[in-house]
Amino acid sequence: MARNFNLYRYRMPFSRKGETNTRHTHEVREGLIVSLEDGDTRGQGEIAPLPRLSVETLIEAEQQALDLLSQWQARRAIEPTLERAAPSVAFGLSAALSELTGALPETCQKRSATLMDCADIAAFIENLQRSDAREKAPVVKIKVGRDAPDTEARAVLTLMTALPWVKVRLDANRAWTLNEALDFARHLNARTDSSIAFIEEPCQTPALSLRFAQETGIKIAWDEHVREADFHPNDAKTSLVAAWVIKPSLTGSIARCRALTDQARQHRIDAVISSSYESSLGLTQLMRLAAWLSPETLPGLDTGHVFQTCIARGMPDDPRAIIPLSSLEKIA
Ligand SMILES: [Mg+2]
Repeated sequence: MARNFNLYRYRMPFSRKGETNTRHTHEVREGLIVSLEDGDTRGQGEIAPLPRLSVETLIEAEQQALDLLSQWQARRAIEPTLERAAPSVAFGLSAALSELTGALPETCQKRSATLMDCADIAAFIENLQRSDAREKAPVVKIKVGRDAPDTEARAVLTLMTALPWVKVRLDANRAWTLNEALDFARHLNARTDSSIAFIEEPCQTPALSLRFAQETGIKIAWDEHVREADFHPNDAKTSLVAAWVIKPSLTGSIARCRALTDQARQHRIDAVISSSYESSLGLTQLMRLAAWLSPETLPGLDTGHVFQTCIARGMPDDPRAIIPLSSLEKIA
């Protein structure tokens, strides 16, 4: 049976400014959608390197994807090559192949930690108190490291005091010196271990973040570090580490992500499947990946609302318009 592929490019504006870890903002999001046909079966995937966080550019990803897709069409096994491909290419192509073979289960994890920064806290508290929505948002993820540590600590403390049932994940993206991180912890007072699940990468280096965890008793999570060459899953200090944040578009193939979630489970560490501003197509696949690979941990997938439209597929309970693949720019 004949194999065929199409590759599309999308460009869509952020409706709310997409703010990434590096504090730079992007006006538009660009990425690729790959569509595979093998006889009667179909599979789609999204290849969307994130500027400044991905090692590969969109142009490089496109070249690599085209090369791998021609090999796939010629019936060569590309799975081994995917493990050496750029992360966004490896994720997008492995997702499309997994749909084709039925390996990626359909069940979606529709819930996510609610993403916010300190400036959103007051409105969040008001909303939740009004709607009596205890069930709706048991976990929040707050970006910190953007303002003075004591100011941010006070904002976080306000949330923990007003909504004591809410579990708080914090993410400092390596913004703090050890002293600044300790200052933040000091201003949280005694409320720390009751509500705080973890702080992602509080300090500039993993070694300093571990010292922070040792000194404060607040658990940390690895995000950037999971993708570094010197990341050692078997590191002995895991009692200080509560979670690994796994972002498939920045990490690689589904097989690679699965190996990481398996290792995390062995070490009793939570694996938080997280998004990197993918379109609704990639994001719904991440919801399926979260339900499959890490069902016991609420994922970090609260990024869909930054776009006005969906691409190719809608999201659960989401009224936004869906742009079909036929309306996108076709590259191959
Ligand atoms: Mg992070």
